[in-house]
Amino acid sequence: MATAQPVEAGYGPGVALLVIDLQNDFATPGGSLYVRGGEEIVDAVNAQAAVAVGAGSPVFWTQDWHPEVTPHFVTAGGIWPPHCVAGTPGADFHPDARVTGEVIRKGVDGADGYSGFSTRDPRSGLRSSTVLGDRLAAAEVRTVVVIGLAGDYCVKETALDGRRLGLDVVVPLALTRFVNLRPGDDAAAVAELRAAGVLVEPGPPAG
Ligand SMILES: [Zn+2]
Repeated sequence: MATAQPVEAGYGPGVALLVIDLQNDFATPGGSLYVRGGEEIVDAVNAQAAVAVGAGSPVFWTQDWHPEVTPHFVTAGGIWPPHCVAGTPGADFHPDARVTGEVIRKGVDGADGYSGFSTRDPRSGLRSSTVLGDRLAAAEVRTVVVIGLAGDYCVKETALDGRRLGLDVVVPLALTRFVNLRPGDDAAAVAELRAAGVLVEPGPPAG
């Protein structure tokens, strides 16, 4: 099956794979914040994770995990419909996802959790770190491959945070999909990633 081999990276102990938010509310048609085509990448993500694990790469899966009431949601002043509420089916990983490796939850305390590395309190603007950066540092990871959902939000923010931490970052486009809240958000996200030094690869078609 299709695997996007990051030519510059190649998997191995110094290269981690970060699978972002492959959860029902994003990846399943009918999910409350469904990203069009999200379900199409699940098999290819599984294949990529298997390649990474086989080569000795650490693999992490992020999971958006919100309280019922949070300023992240439109119901309390935010911009998003309620999604990935802790313990609900929408917060579960896609049923076909084969989750191997550590799960990193984000947005747990009412913060915005776009990046796998950090969260931001939407009221105070205060940022705090998840355990992901420490885990990667402890494993002496220097390169991360970031895949999953969505390309213009959590994948992008995770990739940019990776660059801020001094990591080499690869984003294979075949293994993500974009929300495109506004037309062209996908192209703008790719441009922003490239400007930050992220290697954006087309990769083979997913699925
Ligand atoms: Zn969220």
